[in-house]
Amino acid sequence: MMPSAYTRTPDSYRAMSDDELRDRIRAKKQEHGKNLVVMTHHYQRRAVVEFGDYQGDSYALCKIGAQLDAEYIAFCGVHFMAESAVILARPDQKVFLPNPLAGCPMADMAAIDSVFAAWDELGHHLPGSKIIPISYMNSAADLKAFCGRNNGVICTSSNARKTFDWALERGERIFFFPDEHLGRNTANAYEIPKDELFVWDFNLNPAKRDVEALKRAKVILWKGYCHVHTVFQPHHIQQMRQEHPGVKIVVHPECTEELVAIADSVGSTSHIVKYVAEQPAGSVIAIGTELNLIDRLAHMHPDKTILELAGNTCAMCVNMYRTTLNDLAYTLDNLETIKPMSVPDDVKVHARIALERMLAITG
Ligand code: SF4
Repeated sequence: MMPSAYTRTPDSYRAMSDDELRDRIRAKKQEHGKNLVVMTHHYQRRAVVEFGDYQGDSYALCKIGAQLDAEYIAFCGVHFMAESAVILARPDQKVFLPNPLAGCPMADMAAIDSVFAAWDELGHHLPGSKIIPISYMNSAADLKAFCGRNNGVICTSSNARKTFDWALERGERIFFFPDEHLGRNTANAYEIPKDELFVWDFNLNPAKRDVEALKRAKVILWKGYCHVHTVFQPHHIQQMRQEHPGVKIVVHPECTEELVAIADSVGSTSHIVKYVAEQPAGSVIAIGTELNLIDRLAHMHPDKTILELAGNTCAMCVNMYRTTLNDLAYTLDNLETIKPMSVPDDVKVHARIALERMLAITG
C-alpha cells in the first residue's frame, strides 16, 4: 500500500539508531543535491535543526521559501508553515511536512466558520466601516485566503508593526487574527489607546457582545493565544531579577502585555537569536520563548549563561517537538511516494495574494 502523508512514520524507521537515521538523511541530501531543501524552524529539536539548509522563524523561512528552486522542500515545522510554503511554491515543487500531525493549537483557534460569522456580525454592527483583516502567519491557509479576498494581509512577529502602518493607511479598523497578544502588543507599541482595543471572543453568544465598546475599537483582537508563550508571568521576571541581579530578559511578543511591559527586550524569534548573540561574554540572559530554541542558544553561546525564564515550567511546543530524525529520514527516503502537502487552488490563489502583500510591504 502506498504510504499517505497522514500515515505516521513506520515502526521500521522508529527502530533505527540515530546514527543510521543521520546516514540516511545525509545520503538523500547528497543524492538530490540542490533539488532537495530542508527548512527547519528555530523551535525544532537540535538533532533536526542540524540538517536544515535554512533555519529561521516563520518570516525568514517564508521569504526564503518564496525564492527556492528545489523540486523537494521538507519543512520541519508545523502545519501552517508547510502550507505557507505550498502557497508560495511553484506548482511543480513538492512540499513535505515530515510529521503531518504537527499542528498549531493557536492557528486552530481561528476556524474559518467562526471568522465568517464574525465578519458578518461586524458588518451588521459597523456598517460602512472599512475593516482591514490582518492574520498572523500562524493561521490556516483558509484564513490567509480570507485576508487576501478582503483586502487584508499576513504578518509575522517580525513585521506586525509595518502591517499595522499599511492597514491603517487603507482602513479605519484592523481585525487581527488569531493571537490576541501579538495584536495587543503591536497596538500598544503603536500607542493605540486601550479603550480602542476590543477582544473578539469567538465563543461568546453574539447577543452578549458589547456593541458600544466595539464601535469605539480601532483594533479588534481575535481571542486566540499560544499556550507556550502565555505560561510566562511577571512573577517569573521578578524572581529571575532577584536571583540573578543584572540578568537581561528578552521575551517573544506572543507573551502577555504585562510581561512585555517589564522585559528588557521584546521581539520575534529572529530578534531573540540576535539579541543573545549581541550580549557580551559573561552575560546572564533569561529568555521567554520556546524551550528548544533556548536549549540551542545555550549550546551556541557557551560563554554566556542562558536561562529559561520560567525554569519550573516546561515552555515547550509539543507540536514542534513532534518532528524527529525518524520522520525526516522516512520522508526523504520516500519523496516519490509520500503524498506532498496540498492546498486547494481557490484557497491558494487568495492566500498567496495576502502573503505577497506582506512580502511587498516588509521587503
Ligand atoms: S509555539 Fe505556539 S504559536 Fe508556535 S507553533 Fe507552537 S503552539 Fe503554535
